[in-house]
Amino acid sequence: MQRFRHWVLLIPGLACTLAPTGVLKAQTDLDSVTILLPARVFDAEAGSMRDDWAVIIKGDRIQAVGPAEQLGRSAGAVVIELPGATLLPGLIDAHSHVTLHPYDETPWADQVVRESLEERTIRAVAHARASLLSGFTLLRDLGAEGAGQADVSLRDAIAAGIVPGPRLLVASRAIVATGGYSPGPRGYAWNIDIPIAAQEATGTDEMRRAVREQIALGADWIKVYADTRSDLPAPTAEELEAIVDEASRTGRRVAAHASTPAGMRRAVLAGVATIEHGFHGTTEVFDLMAKHGVAFYPTLAAVAANEEYAGRFTPGEAPSARILQVLDVFRLARRAGVIIGLGSDVGVFDHGDSRIELDWMVRGGMSLTEALQAATIVNAEILGVDEQLGSITAGKLADLVAVAGNPTDDLSALRDVVLVMKGGHLVVQP
Ligand SMILES: [Zn+2]
Repeated sequence: MQRFRHWVLLIPGLACTLAPTGVLKAQTDLDSVTILLPARVFDAEAGSMRDDWAVIIKGDRIQAVGPAEQLGRSAGAVVIELPGATLLPGLIDAHSHVTLHPYDETPWADQVVRESLEERTIRAVAHARASLLSGFTLLRDLGAEGAGQADVSLRDAIAAGIVPGPRLLVASRAIVATGGYSPGPRGYAWNIDIPIAAQEATGTDEMRRAVREQIALGADWIKVYADTRSDLPAPTAEELEAIVDEASRTGRRVAAHASTPAGMRRAVLAGVATIEHGFHGTTEVFDLMAKHGVAFYPTLAAVAANEEYAGRFTPGEAPSARILQVLDVFRLARRAGVIIGLGSDVGVFDHGDSRIELDWMVRGGMSLTEALQAATIVNAEILGVDEQLGSITAGKLADLVAVAGNPTDDLSALRDVVLVMKGGHLVVQP
């Protein structure tokens, strides 16, 4: 995990939490003190629950955490009792699409070609709010999927306090090899201009240009499709290396969509930071990822959602063959010692349901505690924000969620959110 620590923090959502504009502006008084008294606190770094601990928040930061009777109560502090509840660090989903909504409502290609940019942006505002209310206080959003710069604008609007939502790290348009992605042109008349849901590029110069353009327009991360379908064009090793090099010179890192062992291998050797999906990963390629410290986001919940939409899986019933196959791959990654974070691909399914990914990771062999760590401290380390977020530690930003019950006994506790705080600002309160 140490290799992630030298990366520069490039997070408008962190820098501008108290930006003085908009209806939700600066509600965090820097001198205000709040004391939270839950039944237990999740210590993400230690991976254990601390019974009868309290947390003191001053302004936008955690001031102290420890046994309630030792911390005392300062005069004038607002005390919030949370009986029976567990207080966790704000949850993090490192693979989201705020501009997409469930494919059983509208198929992906129809969202890209039939919904206007305005509609998709308005939907994204509602999606961000739903995620925040469910206790997710940071999302890494991996591609606007044809919705222009909507993710960048939404990130900035949230940071400015104009609309509620999680902190966002965004990839903007994402990069794909020319001809490697959809909806167009395949399946449409050649003379009709159908949009492509990512920026196409060919050759190392165009790849570098795409990275530069996306950085200039506000991308925090660069996302590349290292493969899409085996019969479609994919970037070469040299093109991937050019992308990583161009991104790294501004302190940015690269997330690679890759499902085939060949695509995953090319991406890892090119120096990407994270592999998304990896549905056909092998022990050999996971060993390579572990060796290079490349993190894995298996997006299991999205697979389950797509299987449900195809009529092959009903939630609560036995997993389909496809789900069992990706769970087997997940086990291979764990056995190889790959760093695994929570990245659900939410947008394929309902925003606010990112917690479903934890259920599937547990089905794949993680302990409940490991799944909660993947959603908090592990994700914060992978994303390079662990000095500010990811655990309930004095000095970090006060991004917190309280749920009724104990999620290390039963993850369904995550459905029952009783408090959400972002940067010391109460979003949901009992
Ligand atoms: Zn995705």
